[in-house]
Amino acid sequence: MKLLLHMCCAPCTVYPARVLKEEGIEFEGLFHNPNIHPFEEFTRRRENLEILAGINGLTVNYIDDFDQAGWEGFRGEGEERCRMCYSRRLEKAAQFASQEGFGAFTTTLLVSPYQKHDVIREIGENMAKKYGVGFYYRDFRPGFRKGQQLAREMGLYRQKYCGCIISLRDKQDKDKAKEMDKVREREKDKDKERSRDEDK
Ligand code: SF4
Repeated sequence: MKLLLHMCCAPCTVYPARVLKEEGIEFEGLFHNPNIHPFEEFTRRRENLEILAGINGLTVNYIDDFDQAGWEGFRGEGEERCRMCYSRRLEKAAQFASQEGFGAFTTTLLVSPYQKHDVIREIGENMAKKYGVGFYYRDFRPGFRKGQQLAREMGLYRQKYCGCIISLRDKQDKDKAKEMDKVREREKDKDKERSRDEDK
């Protein structure tokens, strides 16, 4: 049985691809991630997957779709948005697996402790039923750190946010809040310094 491995990005692919190879499981990859925004980020993650595929001799299929407007215009929030996001990607993976004669599919999203693991599993299983293929569920998370370390050693780009424009804005807001905290701390220190000087 040949497996289709949906690949969300290069660093998250390192560990699952490695264990599948070690276990002699025949597989091909699929890059289909319309959730990666903005476009420069999309191309950067795609290019890094090509680099990894070159290093590790992986066969990867690319179905390019970039849809920032789809995420910006989506009305749901939080988990609802992530469900839409997983569904779009895993539906394409299930459809492709079915059309191309793969016995089952899985996803590198299952390696990340930052993703909604149980939701991914549920959606993967539902899409598998819909398209008449298997969903190869596997908890790859124990290998997450190892995979990230190997990705660093290979010089692969490791992103700092999940992917969509909303997750980028959330990250930027958090970074700004941290910077503001630092500025406030520095101001407090200066005030203390000044009052010490005045007491002398
Ligand atoms: S946070 Fe991540 S999983 Fe959720 S919608 Fe954005 S890209 Fe998709």
